[in-house]
Amino acid sequence: MLTEIRGLNEECGVFGIWGHTDSAQLSYYGLHALQHRGQEGAGIVVTDGTKLHPVKGEGLVNDVFNEEKLRAATGHAAIAHVRYPTAGGSGIENVQPLLFRSSTGSLAIAHNGNLVNANHLKQHLERSGSIFNSTSDTEVVIHLIKKSSYSPFREKVKNALSLLKGAFSLMILTKDMMVVARDRNGLRPLALGKLGDAYVVASETCAFDLIGAEYVRDVEPGEILFITNNGIEVDSFAPADKRAMCAMEYVYFARPDSNIDGVNVHMARKRMGRELAREVAGIEADVVTGVPDSSLSSAIGFAEESGIPYELGLIKNRYVGRTFIQPTQELRERGVKMKLSPVVQVVKGKRVVMVDDSIVRGTTSRRIVRMLKEAGAAEVHVMITSPPMTNPCFYGIDTSTSEQLIASSHSIEQIRDAIGADTLTFLTVDGMVRATARPFDDEEGGLCMACFTGKYPTEIFPDTVLPHEKDC
Ligand code: SF4
Repeated sequence: MLTEIRGLNEECGVFGIWGHTDSAQLSYYGLHALQHRGQEGAGIVVTDGTKLHPVKGEGLVNDVFNEEKLRAATGHAAIAHVRYPTAGGSGIENVQPLLFRSSTGSLAIAHNGNLVNANHLKQHLERSGSIFNSTSDTEVVIHLIKKSSYSPFREKVKNALSLLKGAFSLMILTKDMMVVARDRNGLRPLALGKLGDAYVVASETCAFDLIGAEYVRDVEPGEILFITNNGIEVDSFAPADKRAMCAMEYVYFARPDSNIDGVNVHMARKRMGRELAREVAGIEADVVTGVPDSSLSSAIGFAEESGIPYELGLIKNRYVGRTFIQPTQELRERGVKMKLSPVVQVVKGKRVVMVDDSIVRGTTSRRIVRMLKEAGAAEVHVMITSPPMTNPCFYGIDTSTSEQLIASSHSIEQIRDAIGADTLTFLTVDGMVRATARPFDDEEGGLCMACFTGKYPTEIFPDTVLPHEKDC
């Protein structure tokens, strides 16, 4: 997975736990499991029933927390967040959970996703006197809660969330309650689990596995959970809309050992590889290899279906550190070389099928193809396990603007030529839907496929801000 150099930035990850004396330590482990969803910053806010205690910082989970900081954060409940790298808006003040202290009650909030009407709501709030500190959607949510005329607090939160459009899987922590909610389209994943008597919530189920928690169910679109010492209360803040789980979670973002809405990501990726192999039936090649890590599962599926042997033709160097902070072209180029290496003995003289998950700008694919050819590959056939990405994402994935998406302005043949491949094939929309094994059609919904089809599951406002222009 080469998020940081291909222009397809990941989103964020959220984790929460209620009813465990080791809430900070367990959140730390939960964030470890979600680290792939964001590497720029991490934070945990803990409640001990009387006050909220934040621990956060910039960098990877291991950089931010240490034993001393976690030991100081005592309490029976916590919410936590990992943040993805953005073009702007860096800095500790943007690292979530955001904590708002107030005489009427402090609260912390952690959010994954992007609201499409945040600017619209913000203008409305500013006209009625609100002052904003950041460009963050999350702050809009807080102002809406504080300004709501509803009562009590639960109704305020429901009222605020009912005004939001777009993607959000969010958690709010007060000193005596944890609120969990998922947007009415279910665009971003969010699952509920249990660890003994404690409730656990996470963007991906892999966080449950790491702490030994048991998966209970996914949080439903439009659903809101209020978790207190008295247990869990299930409610809804808005009727569920057309379900639109982000298809790219299955293709690329989520960890293969996670299950999203009941579908295992590794198995979905294998089926993507199988579907692709069926769609290019008859291709002649000697070896199938996947671009690590996100395309290894699909490469295995492709090999199984096509009968062409699977091999490790590309190796990822896992210990190169954060090379994505290098901004120049030359340094980025070196970053790719540091991150990936071809296995010459596997590819030399071979007709190689190279399976990858997506093409955004095309620059990464071109470098990998060139790397394989320099290692002696006789032919490189690039197989992409998603359809051409022609439209930007407004829901929390930084796919850049349309102009930066090579497929928005180039034919498949032109892209093949640009990346230097011998052939180039993209999975069809139908193949991808079959692979995710989820019910889907334009009327009923099921998946968001907007970056491939241009059919957005929500209204898009003229002033919708793209994720890369602001926070998570
Ligand atoms: S537009 Fe694409 S990346 Fe964004 S939510 Fe939809 S499927 Fe996911």
